[in-house]
Amino acid sequence: MTLDIRRFFRPDLDELEEYVPVQPLDVLAAEIGVPVGRLVKLDANENLYGPIPEVVDAIMKADLHIYPDPGSTALREAIAAYAGVGAAQVVAGSGADELIDLVLRLVQPKAVVDNVPTFGMYSFLAKINGGRVVDVARTAGFAVDVAGCEAAVRAGATVVFVTSPNNPSGNLMPEADLERLLACEAIVVLDEAYVEFSGGSHVGMLERFPNLVILRTFSKWAGIAGLRVGYSLSHPDLARPMMAIKQPYNVNVAGDAAARSALEHRAVIFETVRSLVAERERMSKRLAELGWLKPLPSRSNFVLVEVVGRSAKDVAAGLRRQGVLVRYYSRPELKDYIRISAGRPEDTDRLIAALRALEAA
Ligand code: PMP
Repeated sequence: MTLDIRRFFRPDLDELEEYVPVQPLDVLAAEIGVPVGRLVKLDANENLYGPIPEVVDAIMKADLHIYPDPGSTALREAIAAYAGVGAAQVVAGSGADELIDLVLRLVQPKAVVDNVPTFGMYSFLAKINGGRVVDVARTAGFAVDVAGCEAAVRAGATVVFVTSPNNPSGNLMPEADLERLLACEAIVVLDEAYVEFSGGSHVGMLERFPNLVILRTFSKWAGIAGLRVGYSLSHPDLARPMMAIKQPYNVNVAGDAAARSALEHRAVIFETVRSLVAERERMSKRLAELGWLKPLPSRSNFVLVEVVGRSAKDVAAGLRRQGVLVRYYSRPELKDYIRISAGRPEDTDRLIAALRALEAA
């Protein structure tokens, strides 16, 4: 008799759609038939300038044979000084992704509000934590439907995810909308993963709203996405139980050292942040000049681009064949769009050349 091991598993996960992350670079390069160094990677909003030498040096000097500090004390103090809060308000984790999971594990919400289209990890992790996801569709210009969120909270949702700037639309959440959300009886998770590109953090609201959790990351501005360091900022009463339930060694020694070095040398890294913002604007202008692409205004390090009169899916596939990677979504409301990260000037040039080649084909 063969044992059906599935009977031991949670039945609610049977229908879980897998989160589809981007493929590893070497796999992609082999598939496309170009060397890794020739790929133009504009699909995951990383900082293509990479880590600065000081950060690499800090990793080299870290005690890699010793377990990390479970309290991430030095890192949390450095983050607190950077963000302008107390260290007791900071929880560090393995990417902002882990903080999304930690909030959900703490609350175990029956229902969660997702303001779609947005970053896919909120709904993915909500389902894994046993929650029902209530999709509230964004309105014109990808603004959050605050009344829709309020209604979902009245109907029982206890966690609301909002993102500013939003991924993939790049727009900011107005403070007045956030105030209205925070007046709801729910935990409001405000994801500021891209705030270094937009400015205008809402960290000041933490003093007034104990139900606010802000998420941030070193993946986008600091050029260390591969090391997985993110953090949350909240009232200490919320940070404390998150610290209590997290994996003790959730931030590894290399990531901890790199993130502290990035903060120490942030003035240097912010030069690349400014370059990426400038490049986003130049890229948007060049894309618009083609006539069949409509870039949306963005406050982040990527641009959502409407493809007019052609299939967006085919454009993404055609770029991929030329080694230029952009993000295409299968969601119906985004079927006519591609998202393109801002890179270095040479990345933009390769992108535009590949688009021109598509035009000519
Ligand atoms: N939030 C948003 C809005 C994102 O776009 C991303 C990365 N794609 C993350 C969080 C995850 O960040 P991290 O790499 O720190 O897990």
